[in-house]
Amino acid sequence: MRLFDTHSHLDDEQFDNDREEIIKKIWENDVKTVMEVGSSLETSLKAVNIANSHDFIYASVGIHPEFAENADDEDFQKIKTIAETEPKVKAIGEIGIDYYYDDSAPRESQLNCFQNQILIAKELDLPIIVHDRQSKGDTLKVLKDMNVTKGVIHCFSGSAETAKILINMGFMISFTGVITFKNAKRAIEALKVIPIERLMIETDSPYMAPEPFRGRRNDSRYVKYVAEKMAEVKGIELEQLCEITYQNGLKFFNITKEENIQ
Ligand SMILES: [Zn+2]
Repeated sequence: MRLFDTHSHLDDEQFDNDREEIIKKIWENDVKTVMEVGSSLETSLKAVNIANSHDFIYASVGIHPEFAENADDEDFQKIKTIAETEPKVKAIGEIGIDYYYDDSAPRESQLNCFQNQILIAKELDLPIIVHDRQSKGDTLKVLKDMNVTKGVIHCFSGSAETAKILINMGFMISFTGVITFKNAKRAIEALKVIPIERLMIETDSPYMAPEPFRGRRNDSRYVKYVAEKMAEVKGIELEQLCEITYQNGLKFFNITKEENIQ
């Protein structure tokens, strides 16, 4: 059995004391590919460093909407240069819109940050990893207006109806340990209608630890619990679910079999 954690933040300071130890354990626990996701210029550079020192880890670079207000053209240019020159960078992200917090970055700067990085992804022909929190309407509008077809909505928590719209747009949909929570009814209903070839699994570690580890530090080993829940909902064998989502991940991020050490 092999698993692909398609969204992790191993750069997070919560791993500063035991990062290498945890990475070793992740590999030993059947997680054979990890997408390490940046959320600022600084963490994107860290993500590339981590990917460059571990064969089974790849990187995504981008500026999260949380940091949109201070992001300028120079930052976008730097993101583009990193993505263009570092062969292990396989996506632009995480990028998107977040209206959850009262002090979220202003709408205009979030849209500007999102749109600029979509343009980079299009120029470099890379897929995008989208963060959408309380911003479904605007996120869908930007993706449609800019005719984006190569993307994944990460940590999906939307409705079955939204999932269907995204599927029609060509999108992948990725789920975290949230689906293991008792109150995850809406996400489960969405999961039921998504074709299996459009699904990916992720931890979003160190956040979003699945049951029975809810509230603790998460890491890529726990992607197994997301897979178990997904297999149960889709009514297929765990091993089959893991292999399908693994292949989906390789295909989506354009990681060739020769390149993937597993
Ligand atoms: Zn994330």
